[in-house]
Amino acid sequence: MENEEKSEFIKCPFCGKLNYSSLVRCTCGYYFKEESYKSYRKNQDDIEDYNRKTDKMLKHFSMERFLLKTGIIGGILIMLVSCTWFYLAYESNRFYIYPPILFVIGLIALMKGIISRIKKKKTDL
Ligand SMILES: [Zn+2]
Repeated sequence: MENEEKSEFIKCPFCGKLNYSSLVRCTCGYYFKEESYKSYRKNQDDIEDYNRKTDKMLKHFSMERFLLKTGIIGGILIMLVSCTWFYLAYESNRFYIYPPILFVIGLIALMKGIISRIKKKKTDL
């Protein structure tokens, strides 16, 4: 009877607190089982890895996000640049994936610029 009661609890070797043996982790953060700590570490590593990747991605797309805010003139310029780029690449029998993307970005920037201008006019009236 006494043994059964004892097995329900597990003493944390780190802080000395009694915990239910069903728990894998003490409130102080100590893991009672090595494999659960390992899986915890793996999850943490996965999270860190994911965060690092998304961070990189955000940095990679920061120029595009900046270009999206350039407005009407910026949008037209971006489209002109992308067309020129595409044409030059086409002339030398090459194809780049970036000019069409840039063209779309320019188009969105242009539309955003037009929309914000319309909104501004409405508030001015
Ligand atoms: Zn503890």
